[in-house]
Amino acid sequence: MNHDFDRVVVLDFEATCQRSGVPQPQEIIEFPSVLISLEEGRVLDEFSSFVRPIHHPELSEFCTELTSIVQADVDGAPTFPEVLAAHRAWLEGHGLLHPEAGAALITCGDWDLQTALPVQCAASGPPITALPPIYRRWINIKKIFAKVKPRAKGFGMPSMLRGLGMELRGRHHRGIDDCHNIARIALGLAALGGRFEITGRLSSSHYPEIEIEVVWGEARQRTLLRKRHLATVLGLASGLFKTKMVKVFAADGGEIVDDEPLMELAAGSALRVVSQRELA
Ligand code: AMP
Ligand code: MG
Ligand code: MG
Repeated sequence: MNHDFDRVVVLDFEATCQRSGVPQPQEIIEFPSVLISLEEGRVLDEFSSFVRPIHHPELSEFCTELTSIVQADVDGAPTFPEVLAAHRAWLEGHGLLHPEAGAALITCGDWDLQTALPVQCAASGPPITALPPIYRRWINIKKIFAKVKPRAKGFGMPSMLRGLGMELRGRHHRGIDDCHNIARIALGLAALGGRFEITGRLSSSHYPEIEIEVVWGEARQRTLLRKRHLATVLGLASGLFKTKMVKVFAADGGEIVDDEPLMELAAGSALRVVSQRELA
């Protein structure tokens, strides 16, 4: 197969917005996805939900004009943690949640998963501090388009559609319509031989900070973990216990040897550390 993935899931968030500047925090108001098979060249399923913003519950007129999403759509909608859980369950139902499933999310640009999702996770009550791997890496369709059409001038969704001789269907800036249009671009690029591979990953410094417990022998200390790096945990622990720490173990006893398990660490988790002296 020409792709690293067969099934890809298009995702396109819409969020609170205003004519100038960006609301703080900017909250997701529509969470849609379209599942496609690159091999079969077709749409398999879709997921769609509005999301009720909690920091700025009133949508601006500008936001409604841009997205066509009206106040009543979000007033009756579930909040972000519930919608994320429903989206996860939908992925799970298609057997796509696990890294070995051979699936990836595809977005138009890096904003959705690089910026909007981490901001929303931090702004949710309580903050969402752990995300499955599928939400932490993505395929930016613009990068695939640029490889297939190196002479293209524009990389906005309407330009890419035009570049493929396709019309924009539905309403631009309405998440579910954007997803279907991005899906058509993806299928068009796949038909032209475009190769779909991961183009972006969520860096651990974009994650919300969590409180963890560091355990060294009988001693325990609570601390804030800002960056989900193994080196950060070792540095924190060395400072707390004034001893050079060299190994970290998860609560289940397994040694943590890279940053990956830290990305899924729940708030309040305990990590056991071992010092250089003990190993000597
Ligand atoms: P999009 O996927 O291009 O529809 O955009 C996602 C989100 O980015 C929108 O829901 C808005 O919050 C924001 N956005 C997009 N275009 C604009 C714009 N021209 N002015 C302000 N915000 C925008
Ligand atoms: Mg978008
Ligand atoms: Mg959109």
